[in-house]
Amino acid sequence: MSASALAERAFPAAADDLSAIRALIASSLAPKVLDIDQKAEYPEQFLRALGAAGGYRGAAHAGPDAGLAHVIDVMDEVARECVSTAFTVWCQTACARYIQQSDNEGLKRSLLPRVLSGERLAGTGLSNTLKSGDGIEDYRLSAVRVDGGYRVNGVLPWVSNLGPDHVFVTGCPVLRDGTQDGLMFMLIDCAQEGFRLVDCAHFVGLEGTRTLACHFRDTFVPDAHVLAHPEQSAEYVKRIKPGMIHGQMGMGLGLVEACIRLMEQSNRTHAHVNQYLDDQVGPLRIALDAAREQARALALQVDAGSADVLDILKLRLAGGELALRAAQAAMLHMGAKGYLLRSPAQRRLREAYFIAIVTPATKHLRREIARIEAARAAVPA
Ligand SMILES: Cc1cc2nc3c(=O)[nH]c(=O)nc-3n(C[C@H](O)[C@H](O)[C@H](O)COP(=O)(O)OP(=O)(O)OC[C@H]3O[C@@H](n4cnc5c(N)ncnc54)[C@H](O)[C@@H]3O)c2cc1C
Repeated sequence: MSASALAERAFPAAADDLSAIRALIASSLAPKVLDIDQKAEYPEQFLRALGAAGGYRGAAHAGPDAGLAHVIDVMDEVARECVSTAFTVWCQTACARYIQQSDNEGLKRSLLPRVLSGERLAGTGLSNTLKSGDGIEDYRLSAVRVDGGYRVNGVLPWVSNLGPDHVFVTGCPVLRDGTQDGLMFMLIDCAQEGFRLVDCAHFVGLEGTRTLACHFRDTFVPDAHVLAHPEQSAEYVKRIKPGMIHGQMGMGLGLVEACIRLMEQSNRTHAHVNQYLDDQVGPLRIALDAAREQARALALQVDAGSADVLDILKLRLAGGELALRAAQAAMLHMGAKGYLLRSPAQRRLREAYFIAIVTPATKHLRREIARIEAARAAVPA
């Protein structure tokens, strides 16, 4: 049975699971948000329960009320409470999509249903692969072909949603006679020999994401865990990249929704003075509704393989910018109350900066948009 058929059978019917997910967020995530933000609590139980409730189903199951639009909707709901947890939802669903979109039928049968159900938690270590592919930085990992697989060396400094019983996907160049011979993409089991998780970085936000350094020392990756060999990787990247980037929209949509609610809350007592601020509820609501509508339409195109990469990059950029604008507006509306350690307003500001700096960061998106537009302009019509 295919993974999407399994997902269909195992999880609640498409249309009615969002209300169950909302109830789960209210009961299991909302009371934990301060501990996640301030005590770096990793919401493992919630992530597993979300999987059991069908929250990751859209990563393998396209169609009405499913597919990438469902992934974004779920992330949007989670981000209204906590962007840190919404990011781990992105990690989980991005990893599921990488497996789903590979030609590795074994992993699709054995692992994918367990990632979709939340039984195996999963991450994505593709920031460096993406940035290096776009010429921004050097590759931090490299592989060599050996009998039955590859040996991988190097360090990825920051990969989230990891733990000793987790898995994640990454990709790196294969070296042959000292030169790069295309990329290969692989699934790593965090408990495997020759691989180590190191807890070395601490952040001003997103501390509940279990973001760890990944050390590879002659790590053996069997062919059974390869998602794309060098000769397959150019096509594979074309398949996974649009959904990987577009899926992140859910974080920004939920954050902006939460910021608008904070502004409305403040306006109940301070509208007479808040009205002098640059960003007001009405225009932000209009921008959010438009972004949500565009995100849903584009998600269908991504599922169909017909999305224009420029549309994806531009909407992702606009999403990050809107998140920063809304978080700043919420902070200014809330005033000193928002500056308290337990206030969601200052947390939203830190979360918004993460949306704008996680790969692809604002600067990366602007560079890619400029590069693609210049290349298209150079081609005669
Ligand atoms: C909370 C958090 C979670 C993340 N989760 C993931 C994930 O799940 N998967 C993933 O692939 N990427 C993850 N990243 C990485 C992220 O996507 C970006 O690639 C990263 O933030 C660097 O992007 P940049 O645009 O700032 O890079 P640039 O501006 O190009 O450079 C970043 C700078 O950081 C330096 N740097 C690198 N590592 C370290 C380190 N350990 N300590 C100090 N400085 C360092 C680099 O040398 C460079 O100078 C995460 C980052 C953060 C902050």
